[in-house]
Amino acid sequence: MKVYKFGGASIKDALGVKNVAHILQQEGASNCLLVISAMGKMTNAFENIINASINNDQDKLTESIDLTINFHTKIISGLFQDDHKIHQKVTILFGEMIHFLAENTSKEYDYLYDQIVCYGELLSTIIVSDYLNEFGIDNNWKDVRELVITDAVFRDASVNWKETEQRIKTYIDSSKLTIVQGFIGGDSNGNTTTLGREGSDYTAGIFAYCLDATNVTIWKDVLGVLNADPREFKETQLLNKISYEETIEMAFYGASVIHPKTIKPIQNKQIPLYVRSFNDFNSPGTKVSSGIIIEPIVPCFIVKKNQVLISISTRDFSFMVEENISDIFRLLHKYQLRVNLIQNSAISFSVCVDNNFNHFDQFYDEIKFIFKVSFIKGVDLYTVRHFTKNSLNEIHNLGSSILSQINKNTAQIIIQKK
Ligand code: ADP
Ligand code: ASP
Ligand code: MG
Repeated sequence: MKVYKFGGASIKDALGVKNVAHILQQEGASNCLLVISAMGKMTNAFENIINASINNDQDKLTESIDLTINFHTKIISGLFQDDHKIHQKVTILFGEMIHFLAENTSKEYDYLYDQIVCYGELLSTIIVSDYLNEFGIDNNWKDVRELVITDAVFRDASVNWKETEQRIKTYIDSSKLTIVQGFIGGDSNGNTTTLGREGSDYTAGIFAYCLDATNVTIWKDVLGVLNADPREFKETQLLNKISYEETIEMAFYGASVIHPKTIKPIQNKQIPLYVRSFNDFNSPGTKVSSGIIIEPIVPCFIVKKNQVLISISTRDFSFMVEENISDIFRLLHKYQLRVNLIQNSAISFSVCVDNNFNHFDQFYDEIKFIFKVSFIKGVDLYTVRHFTKNSLNEIHNLGSSILSQINKNTAQIIIQKK
């Protein structure tokens, strides 16, 4: 069985959905499991609904719900006749979401987030599934919340592999084309959970592992894995081959082409992963497998924007010892601040963190009583794998380098833009 994943960019409009049908027609759709994420940038749009609901802002709530309804209505109008049953199915899903928002009394942001954001994936998959059926590609739509079972850590759930594998093996008919939602899962209480933003790639990895897939293809708006994000760097090169380890390293440092958790499960079973272009589906793309580390060997650039660089020292100028560092990490963990770089000296400890969950200010309010703390918000962390002198100069020219760390294969430089 093969696993295909189509992300938001591939199905951002009716033409995109039609293109998916053409890819399946050319590549063969039987023995295939399709993981699909929300259409276009719909996850961001559903996040606006959640924020409006939490803030009790009725006008914004109506406006943001209307935006998501109009977006999906436009796509289905471009794909189906007016009397097709999809119109009713979409209306029912929106009705369910609006009802949930009206009845919900929980102010727990992360819980509400997962219960609402999942509609992006539920809508996209029913639309694609019905369209493919119309097109003549028969398929089974499944609710992934009954297959990918997780703990109840909303917005960052961990997979219960044993339960998930058992359910996937039981309920997926490998001779058919099956369509599931990426990114979302279900906990043992029947609540929806999510695997972290951009988590649909990971869902593809989960299914590939559980189904012992022959290969996985992630269809993207780029030719494959490039040596840098084309949105950030002018000249990029396609990597023809790259090892699992190298891909994990790149994703770990922030290459947003593949979700970092995707690779490990497929590496464990040595399942090859292809990253191919949905616009240019005759190109071979990138093959991720074991063996060759990277081909061609070129410096690879990764940037993580909008980081916070925190410098911490003891209040009494004593040395930073294990106990201090353990206190710091306890708080970083408590406030979900993901550490991307660490540097320590005898009297100070610096960390560069993501502030995705917007908990930095709370972290600061607590840690400032224990340590002397300074911070710089809004810095960019550049990582260069397989660096050369020229590639590092290129980064240094982008602004002032406020911290750098170099080891054998990887250079990391924090830049404050002018
Ligand atoms: P999806 O539609 O699956 O959600 P994403 O937008 O998440 O796709 O990922 C594709 C994007 O990843 C590309 O458009 C590109 O801008 C970005 N990207 C970041 N780093 C790389 C890289 N090293 N190679 C290719 N694309 C990259
Ligand atoms: N729709 C989700 C997101 O935008 C998951 C994904 O696209 O992978 O984060
Ligand atoms: Mg994505």
